[in-house]
Amino acid sequence: MFFEKVALVGVGLIGGSFGLALKEARRCGSVVGAGRSAANLEQAKARGAIDAIEREPAAAARGADLVLVAAPVAQFEKIFLAIGPQLKPDCLVMDAGSTKRDVVEAARKALGAKIAQFVPSHPIAGAEKSGAAAASAALFRGKRVVLTPLAENAPAALEKAAAVWGACGARVSRMSAEEHDAVFAAVSHLPHLLAYALVSDIASRPEAAQLFGYAAGGFRDFTRIASSHPEMWRDICTANRDRLLQELARFGAELGRIGKMLEQGDAEALEKLFADARAARQKWLDGGWLNGEAE
Ligand code: NAD
Repeated sequence: MFFEKVALVGVGLIGGSFGLALKEARRCGSVVGAGRSAANLEQAKARGAIDAIEREPAAAARGADLVLVAAPVAQFEKIFLAIGPQLKPDCLVMDAGSTKRDVVEAARKALGAKIAQFVPSHPIAGAEKSGAAAASAALFRGKRVVLTPLAENAPAALEKAAAVWGACGARVSRMSAEEHDAVFAAVSHLPHLLAYALVSDIASRPEAAQLFGYAAGGFRDFTRIASSHPEMWRDICTANRDRLLQELARFGAELGRIGKMLEQGDAEALEKLFADARAARQKWLDGGWLNGEAE
């Protein structure tokens, strides 16, 4: 597997890391990047994630053998519309978006008959950092990538997509777009919302300086992801709002249940909840939840 020309539309943390990883694996000839910020594209070029810069996605995609769309998800429809007419019939198009139902809908609308060339994908690798400056060839190593195949995708296109992510060091699994959005609402989108909400609430209080002054390791760990890119998370939360609202309601009920334990001074119930949660987290850290999971 070798791609003569790779186009990255959006060369931030994910796009830049993809360029670095493919180059390190020697799977591509040249990598062209298109994006919104000239300074970021220059940074990506200086770091070796891309070899050339195009300001327009269409120009980057022209003649490409592989295109990765790695901009915030609300930009996707516009990008697909721009690149669609430029796609060679054998060009594989993938994305890195954190939501999938909206991305698939945008791709169907914009790519029309070329939809079979698009394999939706989501690397479960990231960080609270953004931009090409934070990119790393190792970002996807040992991490998961979820493909949400379309009925139109030929088996060969899916295999090629899996092989590309495999070359970046990732383990690839598949699920439907619906299942994807439900799963990540629970384990990614809700935690980000909670981290932003906690920091926002503390910052809005008159005594914020005192509170932040005494905040320590626990607060830092819990809120790390509130340093994530606001536009990216605006788009994710908006795109997946129905699932996220379900998770919020469920979490609200759980907080209500814990509030009752506190009201009643039910130390035993609290301790059991904490012990069960700690054991579940340890099992997760040890890889114990992966037993029997379909890859
Ligand atoms: P980032 O902010 O580091 O990079 C996004 C890049 O897209 C920026 O350089 C920006 O200039 C560019 N961009 C914005 N609008 C554009 C447009 N219309 N055309 C072309 N380029 C445009 O963000 P990131 O972390 O690399 O995230 C990129 C995508 O990957 C998002 O869809 C995000 O949901 C997804 N993702 C992020 C993570 C993570 O943890 N950061 C993990 C998995 C997936």
